[in-house]
Amino acid sequence: MENETRLIAGGIVLTMNNNDDMLTDGAVLVENGRIADIGPSAELLSKYAGVEVLDAAGQVIMPGLVNLHLHSGLIRGTAEDLPVFEWLHRYVDPKHRALQQEEAYAAARLSYAEGIKSGTTSVLDMYRHVHRCADAADEIGVRAVFAPYVADRPGYDYFETLESNIRLIEDRNGSAQGRIHVWVGLEHLSYCTEEAYREAARIAEKWGTGIHTHGEESIEMAKEVYKNYGRWPVELFYDRGILGPRTVLAHCVWMQESEMELMAKTGAAVAHCPVSNLKLASGIAPIHEMAERGIKIGIGTDGVKENNNLDMMEEMKYVPLLQKVRHYDAKVMKADKVLRMATIDGAKALGQDGEIGSIELGKKADIITVDFRKLHLTPVLTQTYNNIVSNLVYSAQGSDVQNVMVDGKLLMKDRVLTTVDEEQVRQAGQYAAEQLLERREAFIPEQYKFHGV
Ligand SMILES: [Zn+2]
Repeated sequence: MENETRLIAGGIVLTMNNNDDMLTDGAVLVENGRIADIGPSAELLSKYAGVEVLDAAGQVIMPGLVNLHLHSGLIRGTAEDLPVFEWLHRYVDPKHRALQQEEAYAAARLSYAEGIKSGTTSVLDMYRHVHRCADAADEIGVRAVFAPYVADRPGYDYFETLESNIRLIEDRNGSAQGRIHVWVGLEHLSYCTEEAYREAARIAEKWGTGIHTHGEESIEMAKEVYKNYGRWPVELFYDRGILGPRTVLAHCVWMQESEMELMAKTGAAVAHCPVSNLKLASGIAPIHEMAERGIKIGIGTDGVKENNNLDMMEEMKYVPLLQKVRHYDAKVMKADKVLRMATIDGAKALGQDGEIGSIELGKKADIITVDFRKLHLTPVLTQTYNNIVSNLVYSAQGSDVQNVMVDGKLLMKDRVLTTVDEEQVRQAGQYAAEQLLERREAFIPEQYKFHGV
């Protein structure tokens, strides 16, 4: 399967290369997991006669989407309508405490399958029992970077530790033919000590990995940090040595000028999660300002507990809408910039833009096709009023994704998952969620327990 040769032909090829080249009737040859040729359909069909063809008529052939901040999860729709810290203590921390390995595995399968069905080929996943998430990614075929939920402040001993993180790096970094990477993960400033950050920087240096953690979400959190340390969160990250070209900070909603300067100077990236920021009432991240300063920006869905889906097609639409209204300027944040964030810029944040994120010769074949033969995507125009990119960012839905390929292997063909049984994944997710929620009850603090009306 890994070495299947296939010609994806007859579609609109959106390369996302530096010139934003687009072929209106194009084809891509995939061989040994990589992109071996790109050109007009007629030319490649005759040049590679006999090779299996994936017919992409009426579809857009483009790089797979990079979900730059995800938590696999099971508690969709059950953690609603609370501000972030109350929400963490009421719903999320007790869940972490109750979570067992097999539930993490079911959650990861559910989350990656949902992502693939809406065009996600790469995830940066922060979760627990990550060796089981790595098993899930290995089986299902998604490309994954893992950053375990490490916490070391008193009271959080049920989280992952830097020791378990190191073991995971040793065991799984570079596994699944290079599809799986392991970084150092740190939950959040209020969960981790200063020493944890300094040690994380040492581990990342020693093993040559990246670092992923949450930046500031709420204004209260940013002010609390400033009150306690006299430094804003990103300044504190800088002081503790974790900012660098392979660091991804989720959210970064409340950013001082000094913090943006540090991000730009060190090459650290932001994982922008607009829906999560809206739902938890965190605010609107200054994405336009950060982009102007050359800061690397990708897009993440966050988890199902804060989104409540993992549809990167839907997520993209929120990015320009929020920036336009933040600036009361419709010219801000054009669709092509947003699509780059969801593809090549996300890959850059992961340090993988040499291998994925665009359709270019020699790159790994992480490719999706999106069916544009839909009422909500009509008209399809490629000449004077070219609307392909606008349609993708503003009009497309995850369910328009028709085929998904990672490393040249089809993970979804005509909307059917090929590596796992979708119904089995769904049922296992349902069962695991019921078990988890039941066991979580014992860990919910007394003041949050529901005592009836
Ligand atoms: Zn998060």
